[in-house]
Amino acid sequence: MKKRVVVLGGSFAGLTAAFDAKRLLKDAADVIVVSNQPLFTFIPSLIWVVPGWRRVEDITFRLEPALARHGIQTIIANVTHIDPQRCVLTTHKGEVPYDYLVIATGPHLDFASVPGMGPHDGYTQSVCNLPHALTAQQAWVEYLKDPGPIVVGAAQGASCFGAGYEFVLNIEYALRRLGIRNQATVTWLTSEPFIGHFGIWGVKGSEKEVGRFFSRYNIESIPNVAIDHITPDTIRLSTGRDLPYKYAMIIPPFMGIEAIRNSPGVGNAKGWVEVDDHYRHLTYNNIYAAGVAVAMTPPQPTPIPTGVPKTGYMSEVMGRAAAHNIAADIKGHDLKPLSPLDIQAMCLLDAGDSGMMLVVDKVFGAKRRREILLPSTLMHAGKIAFESYFLWKTRTGRTYLP
Ligand SMILES: Cc1cc2nc3c(=O)[nH]c(=O)nc-3n(C[C@H](O)[C@H](O)[C@H](O)COP(=O)(O)OP(=O)(O)OC[C@H]3O[C@@H](n4cnc5c(N)ncnc54)[C@H](O)[C@@H]3O)c2cc1C
Repeated sequence: MKKRVVVLGGSFAGLTAAFDAKRLLKDAADVIVVSNQPLFTFIPSLIWVVPGWRRVEDITFRLEPALARHGIQTIIANVTHIDPQRCVLTTHKGEVPYDYLVIATGPHLDFASVPGMGPHDGYTQSVCNLPHALTAQQAWVEYLKDPGPIVVGAAQGASCFGAGYEFVLNIEYALRRLGIRNQATVTWLTSEPFIGHFGIWGVKGSEKEVGRFFSRYNIESIPNVAIDHITPDTIRLSTGRDLPYKYAMIIPPFMGIEAIRNSPGVGNAKGWVEVDDHYRHLTYNNIYAAGVAVAMTPPQPTPIPTGVPKTGYMSEVMGRAAAHNIAADIKGHDLKPLSPLDIQAMCLLDAGDSGMMLVVDKVFGAKRRREILLPSTLMHAGKIAFESYFLWKTRTGRTYLP
């Protein structure tokens, strides 16, 4: 009988899982994507929305037509609950039943963990999703009328450090481009024990190389620090130091989304989904998870809590593994393991008019055999080329491409 594969989430992990599942299963399954956003957003480009270098239409596409072209149904609805016993999702538009479920819901942004943090109930900006980046862009326009100190950082427990580094380097570059660099100090603060740690204990030479960028562009860095609280014009650090600011962008810690936290047995206390090496749920063998939604433990503790990055590339790899294992299960084949510890990382860190490439054969662990860090002015062009390639590849469902 035809199976119903429901993918919850329409981003890096979810779209890869959906396109791959349909390609592998063809008429043996109906594939349905449920997402609370009608658009796919290329999140890495949100840092360029703030200084006005990208418009929404440059970095997004509509999910429904892209998926329909491949025979995949889209339901735009907010999921509020997952019932693993009855195999149904509850959405504000009604129930969605499934035979197999892929949870690819990304993070809930935990701004509430630091008083005064975040664009809704606080005073700092965010580039973690499209609405936040648009708000941060408006705040940037206001800031430019009366510039002053800028603080960019990653709060205790944060995990998405690359985005923070890219933002501080790009915003510093934006000041230079506007000819107003002398009107602002730029400061980077982070829970990482050292700069260039990235939540993965660094890559060979990363501390030194990030340090070089910071000293070249006169950016002060404050590692190994937590944020106590934030007022409209000051960030109070755990060391007691007050950092005045006129514009601040702070990456918050992530947790699993509310629907998972509201669904007993689906996620852990933080709302992350615990999976085995097949990306299959530890209790329910018709539920898989991929991307940021997957539970991962930091390999080594840090003095200030520092999370584990789950990048877009890793999210795609996990989405692909989940889809392939669902197809194998439906066809009665053996599932293929892929430990999250064995996923490679490839990252282009943009610095406005230059950047660096980081490649490791394993994201975590001391047993890496390959660690490459390559700073170059070519990396900015590389990032722009990758943006176009990725949007084309995903819009056209070619998620089998690298
Ligand atoms: C500014 C920034 C820059 C970055 N740059 C890079 C980079 O250069 N390279 C890189 O590899 N990674 C980068 N990342 C990380 C990358 O964006 C993430 O790893 C990736 O987005 C994770 O994909 P995901 O599919 O797991 O989750 P997400 O992208 O968060 O997608 C979650 C999906 O679930 C849907 N959803 C959530 N809740 C619900 C609900 N209740 N009901 C229905 N649908 C729901 C959302 O609408 C969305 O479609 C960056 C991140 C940021 C913030």
